[in-house]
Parts: sequence; C-alpha cells; structure tokens
Amino acid sequence: MICELCGADVPRLKTVAIDATVLSVCGDCSRFGEEMASAPLRTSTMPPVIAQRLEARQRRMTPKDVYMQSGELELMEDFPQLIRQARESRGWKQADLGAKINERASVIAKLESGAITPGDDLVRKLERQLGIKLKERVQPIAVKKQAAGPGITLGDLLKDKEGAT
Ligand SMILES: [Zn+2]
Repeated sequence: MICELCGADVPRLKTVAIDATVLSVCGDCSRFGEEMASAPLRTSTMPPVIAQRLEARQRRMTPKDVYMQSGELELMEDFPQLIRQARESRGWKQADLGAKINERASVIAKLESGAITPGDDLVRKLERQLGIKLKERVQPIAVKKQAAGPGITLGDLLKDKEGAT
C-alpha cells in the first residue's frame, strides 16, 4: 500500500487529517497529522442514559407538534377573566361557585387570578356550571395567516399617496 504523503510502500496505512485533509499515510508520516477517530466509535462512547433521554425527549415533542397542527382544543389564555365575568354576571361569590362544583373558594380565587390552570375535569365542571367555553380549537398557523387576508404593505400606502397627488 502506498503512503499518500511520501509514496512509501508499507504493509499498513493510517488515516490521518493534515490541515483538514484526510490522507492514508504510512506510520512515519502519521505523526504529521491527527489520527482520525471514526464516527461510530464516538457515538458508542455517549453514555446510554443520555442517548435514552434524547430519544425520550424526541418522543415527547413529536406528538404535541402533530396535535397542535390538527386543531386540538386548548385552554383559552384569558380563562381567569372568563370565569370571573361569568360568575359575577350570575351574582355568585367565589364560595358560591366553589360549592356548586365541589371546589374550595380558594381554588376559584386561584383560577380567577391565573395562579393555577384547571385540569380537564375542572374545565368541564366550570363550563357546565357557568355556561361558557374555556377551550378553543387551535388552528394551524398557516390557516390563521390566510384568514387574515392580504395585508396592506408600506408600498401600497406610498402608491395610494402618489396617485392622490
Ligand atoms: Zn509516508
């Protein structure tokens, strides 16, 4: 086998990187460069625990992205105000609403201040008791953009102004 650097014919060649160039060279020439560590070797040195965590994280993230795309029901951002307004419109105190849905007044207070987020069961109870919707269907972003219609650009405004004068 021929060394790519000095041309010597040797039984074994080493793969080294010399100034970002990968060459197959003889033992003597290998000292001019850095011996390459093969990619599979590096991967296998990653602790299995970390590899497993990375995989688990990817598994967790993927379904949610798909979920959001398909228009999943999401808790509305202004649920605290929605609950408070619906309750006050009925003349109920926080304790009154709490009693109707088997929750303490402190839970109602925390919901209305946004300190806690209601779980699915609590959302259903609140919706039924107050006659409101606390969840909305999340539309894919692309659809939202289309619904907004074509926007007026700065260029359009300038064009209109020029045309008027
Ligand atoms: Zn050589």
